[in-house]
Amino acid sequence: QWVDITEVLESVLSKTSLKAKEKGLRIQVDIEDDLPLLYGDGLRLEQIFLNLVENAIRYTDAGTVSVQAKLVGQKIIKTIVEDTGRGIPEDELPYIFERFYRVEKSRSRQHGGSGLGLAIVKKLVELHGGVIMVSSQPGKGTRFEVDFPVKVTLQDHEEGGK
Ligand code: ATP
Ligand code: MG
Repeated sequence: QWVDITEVLESVLSKTSLKAKEKGLRIQVDIEDDLPLLYGDGLRLEQIFLNLVENAIRYTDAGTVSVQAKLVGQKIIKTIVEDTGRGIPEDELPYIFERFYRVEKSRSRQHGGSGLGLAIVKKLVELHGGVIMVSSQPGKGTRFEVDFPVKVTLQDHEEGGK
């Protein structure tokens, strides 16, 4: 079905903002107006961002968690979940989407969680034809970008064929 990504992100924020507040984190939201609808599964899209925002809050002790969405070149909706948390060492970045992988196990254990979150996130992103990218600086923060293709409508098609 057609899904309004703004509604998805707002639902995720409403479910996570209390936890952020409890930790004294600032939540910054920057969602462009009038984003095109995405073709997909609203609940699964929500699961993607719930995981990313929960991670951002869980692995950040101070500062800001930022959630952004914007249109890039009419064809891609780019979403960004960024934090000012502990970050992920460069040599561990390639593994974080693997099932059960957790950075610095001794430290992560105190946070609960199973290490399945990002593996599921990646699958769900791909199910929607999207791509997920991560960059991180230990001690500074982490940034996840998820790009979704804006589905070509029949109208686009006709215009493109002119
Ligand atoms: P689960 O999501 O299953 O409850 P989890 O959060 O440990 O458990 P993932 O979400 O798959 O598992 O994340 C894998 C690992 O990547 C985490 O254990 C954590 O070490 C690291 N990680 C994920 N997101 C962040 C982030 N925003 N900042 C720092 N480290 C992160
Ligand atoms: Mg997680």
